[in-house]
Amino acid sequence: PLVLGIETSCDETGVGVVRGTTLLADAVASSVDDHARYGGVVPEIASRAHLEAMVPTIERALAQAGVAAGDLDGIAVTAGPGLAGALLVGVSAAKAYAYALDKPLYGVNHLASHICVDQLEHGRLPEPTMALLVSGGHSSLLLAPDITTDVRPLGATIDDAAGEAFDKVARVLGLGFPGGPAIDREARAGDPNAIAFPRGLTGPRDAPFDFSFSGLKTAVARWVETQRRAGLDVPVADVAASFQEAVTDVLTRKAVRACREQGVDHLMIGGGVAANSRLRAMAEERCAAAGITLRVPRPGLCTDNGAMVAALGAEMVARNRPPSAWDLPADSSLPVTEPLVPAGEPG
Ligand code: ATP
Ligand code: MG
Ligand code: FE
Repeated sequence: PLVLGIETSCDETGVGVVRGTTLLADAVASSVDDHARYGGVVPEIASRAHLEAMVPTIERALAQAGVAAGDLDGIAVTAGPGLAGALLVGVSAAKAYAYALDKPLYGVNHLASHICVDQLEHGRLPEPTMALLVSGGHSSLLLAPDITTDVRPLGATIDDAAGEAFDKVARVLGLGFPGGPAIDREARAGDPNAIAFPRGLTGPRDAPFDFSFSGLKTAVARWVETQRRAGLDVPVADVAASFQEAVTDVLTRKAVRACREQGVDHLMIGGGVAANSRLRAMAEERCAAAGITLRVPRPGLCTDNGAMVAALGAEMVARNRPPSAWDLPADSSLPVTEPLVPAGEPG
């Protein structure tokens, strides 16, 4: 099936076009530079930027894919979770195009899309799919017997998301926003074993698949503060590398354990933090040692984009899932357990 996907849950206006599991176009307009001076995403600015970028980005994606809008088999859109006002722009645009073109509309889950996008790179996902989802707002281990209908959380963060921790630590180190890519870059020149930062929730009595990154973030802030008070230089590269090591150590350890306990022989890693070079390398090593096949999309498909939404939409069409209703709501807290907002769902 030929599907166009629209993503506007945060600050990226993403439009992708896929045919089945083949990527035809991935157009993104980002308002990240407009937010940088505020140190984080400003919802009103994001919504306005989506509104301005929406139609040109859709046209760019269709041109890139070399297909006519009339040939589409469906239009998919992120229905949630995300910023309410930002989501609303995408959902409204998707409804308008779908209605005008007389195509089915699929309101899909942003988090399930972060997983399904891997199909564009590595082909059909195995079933069940074991996924480590690590992004700006979420960190969880998920087992999905069917990515279009059945996504089950095995565990999740009890406080900060992994990406949130990257962004906050980057701020402490004066590395700017967004923090993940900046820490990734800095860490390359640092020693990951320079400072022993805490590994949250890894005690024998802790929940095996839950995460906690808020204590780590505080430990980094306190370490830096102590250094500054003593009039000492802050070894930014070492702090970045040691922090990154602590995060990736916990994530990969728990993900491999989840695969073992569930008897699953592969691991998918998705979400913006999956772009992290150290996480990718450590996951590669530990999965290889455990006999687990690792699937991680290329970094550009890990962060928010429209192709991931199109990928999940195409899967919905391929599996004959019922389209969403015309009163499809934008749901800022859509649960990960709901891959598709079906027809007749109350707003
Ligand atoms: P969610 O998907 O939970 O709704 P989001 O869509 O805002 O959140 P994503 O775009 O999936 O988040 O990911 C953005 C996050 O990924 C940010 O916190 C960013 O710092 C982090 N990130 C991006 N690249 C890297 C990297 N190379 N290393 C570590 N973190 C990264
Ligand atoms: Mg973003
Ligand atoms: Fe995301």
